[in-house]
Amino acid sequence: MKALVYDGPREVGVRDVPDARIERPTDVLVKITTTNICGSDLHMYEGRTNMETGRVLGHENMGEVIEVGDGVDKVRVGDMVSLPFNISCGFCRNCEHGLTAFCLTTPDDPTMAGAAYGFAGMGPYNGGQAEYLRVPYGDHNCLVLPEDARERQADYTMLSDIFPTGWHCTELARVQPGDSVVIYGAGPVGLMAALSAQLKSASQVMVVDRHPDRLALAEQIGAIAVDDSKGNPVDHVNALTNGAGADRGCECVGYQAHDTAGHEQPNMTLNNLVQSVKFTGTIGVVGVFIAEDPSSPSKLYREGEVAFDYGSFWFKGQTMGTGQANVKAYNRQLAGLIEKGKAKPSWIVSHELPLTQAAESYQHFDARDEGWTKVLLHPDGA
Ligand code: NAD
Ligand code: ZN
Repeated sequence: MKALVYDGPREVGVRDVPDARIERPTDVLVKITTTNICGSDLHMYEGRTNMETGRVLGHENMGEVIEVGDGVDKVRVGDMVSLPFNISCGFCRNCEHGLTAFCLTTPDDPTMAGAAYGFAGMGPYNGGQAEYLRVPYGDHNCLVLPEDARERQADYTMLSDIFPTGWHCTELARVQPGDSVVIYGAGPVGLMAALSAQLKSASQVMVVDRHPDRLALAEQIGAIAVDDSKGNPVDHVNALTNGAGADRGCECVGYQAHDTAGHEQPNMTLNNLVQSVKFTGTIGVVGVFIAEDPSSPSKLYREGEVAFDYGSFWFKGQTMGTGQANVKAYNRQLAGLIEKGKAKPSWIVSHELPLTQAAESYQHFDARDEGWTKVLLHPDGA
């Protein structure tokens, strides 16, 4: 089959690899119809993780079931399914509590929790930027999609990761109706956090970034754009909230946060959140941080440490929630919002291309070239 293979920093290419196949009775085999490029892929693409060369990327996958193992009961050949980027078992101590991002069964390292398709440090599983994908524990991991899924793939494809991840960020931040919310990052994840905050009836949603095209997308759903290339975002947010700071804060950037001149500062958004969220406010962090980053320009962060403004955080009585999103905790309900027309996450899609154009798509998305907000790849060429 054809698949996008990671060959090293900023080197990816579509090549022939061994076909994905059923390996265990609980597996499902999916023909991928849509697979998205994610900001998380870029950490790997840029060589900022321990991703092994030769592996297939792609964790935002949907498609049609073409084969099921003997132990699969519910999922049927022909079903259109969304696959949460987390690969989980459904029966371990964490999965039982809905914490499927921290599954104890699927990692290949007994000291780890959580696994994902085509992801550095998250198990040996290949990704879905390929013609076919093996889905372990298929009954548990496949969300069978409504009838209109084939025609509305640009919406339903967001269920594998970024729509639930944006929603998770607002859950970690405990967003309630009437709250003011500040979101750092207007990439796909930040935009989905903004959509989620709007769906939860936040009274004021402020999104901080410096890319005009991305800020314009935030404005399209009624959020307030805060352009940090035009002034200190903390001052701007505090001015918009009568000096108090926002009730809730969302971090949707991660360890490659940088200033507007491009200098990386992994503590930048965390500290800006402490300063632009109110006393007793709550903060959700879904932007990725990793345990070590040997090529970080920050000496501290090479060991995974950041100069966090803990004194102010503590003094303000704030609370922070972190981590990968438990996609399965939300994807069924969010699919319902899409089906009934209450959410249209496809508004951020900028490109739909065949898998053969994956390498150039990575280049443009990595450069944050204007207009390259979210790329969907179609391995079936559709
Ligand atoms: P992206 O790289 O496209 O978007 C990040 C945005 O942050 C960019 O628009 C950039 O301009 C902006 N930014 C950079 N520095 C900033 C700063 N100091 N202040 C404000 N904005 C700043 O990526 P994405 O796809 O939106 O993903 C965002 C993060 O979420 C990544 O770290 C990704 O790995 C992570 N992620 C986490 C999960 C999870 O489960 N927790 C899931 C998916 C993605
Ligand atoms: Zn992703």
